[in-house]
Amino acid sequence: MPSVINDSCIKCGTCAGICPVSAMHLSDSQMVIDPDTCIDCGACIAECPVSAICNDAEATPEAISFNAEQSKICPSA
Ligand code: SF4
Ligand code: SF4
Repeated sequence: MPSVINDSCIKCGTCAGICPVSAMHLSDSQMVIDPDTCIDCGACIAECPVSAICNDAEATPEAISFNAEQSKICPSA
């Protein structure tokens, strides 16, 4: 159950600095999480200043798809 970032993200970079497995990638509009890399440690969820990260059980289908697709084509953050 990977974490997912929604479009409230302000691209501050905090989550990328704390992820132990470098699951964050930066798209044009927001940070996204590679669901195949995230180990569901939960560390990023509490640190996001705008509460843009949640577990995928609580995320919208659109956000889940966007994270999965964009993380494969955008550079690591
Ligand atoms: S839940 Fe943990 S492993 Fe997954 S993206 Fe956040 S910090 Fe990285
Ligand atoms: S900590 Fe939150 S606002 Fe900052 S880049 Fe990550 S998801 Fe976006």
